[in-house]
Amino acid sequence: MKSNFTYDLVIIGGGISACVFASQYLKNNIKKKIALVEIGRGLGGRSSTRISKRFKGWKLNHGAPNFNISNSKNNLLLKSYIDELLENKFIKIDDSDSFCLNQDLNPETQKISQFSCGVNYLSLDSMSQLSQKIIESSNLKGKIDFYFETLIVDLNFNYNEWLLTSKNGDKFTSKYLICSTNLLLHKRSLNILNTNQIPLRKAIPTNYDKKIDLLLNLLEEQTFIPRLTFLIYTNENYSYKDFYSKKQRYFYL
Ligand SMILES: Cc1cc2nc3c(=O)[nH]c(=O)nc-3n(C[C@H](O)[C@H](O)[C@H](O)COP(=O)(O)OP(=O)(O)OC[C@H]3O[C@@H](n4cnc5c(N)ncnc54)[C@H](O)[C@@H]3O)c2cc1C
Repeated sequence: MKSNFTYDLVIIGGGISACVFASQYLKNNIKKKIALVEIGRGLGGRSSTRISKRFKGWKLNHGAPNFNISNSKNNLLLKSYIDELLENKFIKIDDSDSFCLNQDLNPETQKISQFSCGVNYLSLDSMSQLSQKIIESSNLKGKIDFYFETLIVDLNFNYNEWLLTSKNGDKFTSKYLICSTNLLLHKRSLNILNTNQIPLRKAIPTNYDKKIDLLLNLLEEQTFIPRLTFLIYTNENYSYKDFYSKKQRYFYL
């Protein structure tokens, strides 16, 4: 059965940025009615974790295993937020070993990349638990309505109100919208959602809002970097030896 829901604010996506946003927003807007709509089965997004049903206690972060913060402008809000996460023991500084492979899969000396500048942090639990803890820490879980396994496929903006439609036909009306994913703003939506116009472009026509035009033009340029993810299975009591040779580092598991 299709349903209609009305909120002050709808957040699309349940990744770490949506969770941080929701937790901070609700601190000052406790009476607002908020919904979070996510296609996945839980929170975490690309900072996600798979929990094995077969092997008890087996958890694998298959998205971001950690995250790095580069606060070069010394943003105090960001600093105090990270300090709060450290004090709450949600995260710790990540000092694990990492190594780089070049495109031919040969080891190479670590480059300064976007993933390695600043300080690396690790969730003390799994990465998806971090998103959940961020929401739960401010006791916000009961204050947000969560809609999981719900894919928003269409956006409309009329009379200063958003109307969102999910794949199964549910409708969400709200005054404000936070889109924490670029899927509904990017040309990949044409294939993924099988639509003939980017949903945000359809909702807000060209020249209606200069900032949205700028954003959509910027996203038009955005492509993706293909990458390989390796899962390395080891024995329970594994250890590794490593040595350097000709500037390269070799690991034996
Ligand atoms: C394999 C891998 C390794 C990574 N390693 C690192 C790392 O080492 N360090 C680092 O800093 N970052 C890393 N990243 C990047 C990091 O995971 C992301 O930058 C971060 O998780 C993004 O969080 P987000 O909340 O902004 O977006 P997302 O986590 O992408 O959240 C967006 C959410 O929106 C949902 N969604 C999308 N469209 C819709 C829709 N139409 N309707 C409903 N829901 C929708 C998605 O399911 C998703 O859960 C890695 C990512 C991957 C995949």
